[in-house]
Amino acid sequence: MVITILIPCYNEEININYLISRLLPELSDYNFKVLFIDDGSTDQILTKLYALSAANPRIKYISFSRNFGHQAALKAGYTQCKDADVVITMDADLQHPPEMIPEMMEKWKQGYKIVNTIRKSDQNTSFFKRISSRLFYELFGFITGTELVPGSADFRLLDKAVVKVINSLPESNPFIRGIISWVGFKQTAIEYTATPRANGKSGYTLVKMINLAISGITSFGISPIRISFLAGTMCSFLAFLYGIYAVSVHLFSDETVTGWTSVIASVLFLSGFQLIMIGVIGEYIGKIHIQSRNRPDYIIEESNI
Ligand code: UDP
Ligand code: MG
Repeated sequence: MVITILIPCYNEEININYLISRLLPELSDYNFKVLFIDDGSTDQILTKLYALSAANPRIKYISFSRNFGHQAALKAGYTQCKDADVVITMDADLQHPPEMIPEMMEKWKQGYKIVNTIRKSDQNTSFFKRISSRLFYELFGFITGTELVPGSADFRLLDKAVVKVINSLPESNPFIRGIISWVGFKQTAIEYTATPRANGKSGYTLVKMINLAISGITSFGISPIRISFLAGTMCSFLAFLYGIYAVSVHLFSDETVTGWTSVIASVLFLSGFQLIMIGVIGEYIGKIHIQSRNRPDYIIEESNI
């Protein structure tokens, strides 16, 4: 039985020794491998990875040629797990406590193919992050019809059967959290208390979070296009009714419509709405474009696998 622990890292030099010191005791009963995916870090993490892997052959790394993002790092990791029976993904900043691994393994032994984790206490997460993440999960469920568990992060255990399915999906830039909910299998979730990041600062900038949210939603359905179609139809219908009203006022009464305010209001409203619709459609066309370009989601510059 082989367990592989996948850890995407972006500028986590300061955390990985501490992480390893907390992780290895939890794995002592198993035949395991720890695979770090260096997502184009600009700090000295690679030097640390050379040293760690030289000292312990169970520690492996792959290093990207630049920053391709957390989801790409997870994808790269999964493709390297062909010999693993169980794959556990976790963050490098110790917000995902390695001490949860025995409980996750317990669930796997009970027959669960996917063990998700849910952040129990949120007091260590910033107010903004809590609100924006809650909002995203609600919006994602509403728009795509695929339910994500609020507070779930990319800290989870997958059986090799699930990893095989994930590796067989051809879609580029996958939103792993959504895929996990989509694939099915026997799933469960356990709660954990997230601690503050051990050292350093979050690699998830606001821009990266927004990108993840948009890409997550658009890769899971076309409801936004439908919503804009319905709303567009409704607007046109209202504009049509208003047109009839304006013409009848003109024909059957003496007061000509003074015009300016209502014209400018409807022009602004409709043109704004059209821009939004074009944006939504553009988002999907962009996705098709990216997929058809067929570029890889990441480039591995070096690795010791
Ligand atoms: N990460 C990554 N690439 C990025 C940003 C983050 O591989 O572009 C890694 C990071 O090193 C960490 C995990 O993804 O192991 C979660 O990131 P972070 O802790 O910065 O996010 P937060 O916990 O603030 O949401
Ligand atoms: Mg973190």
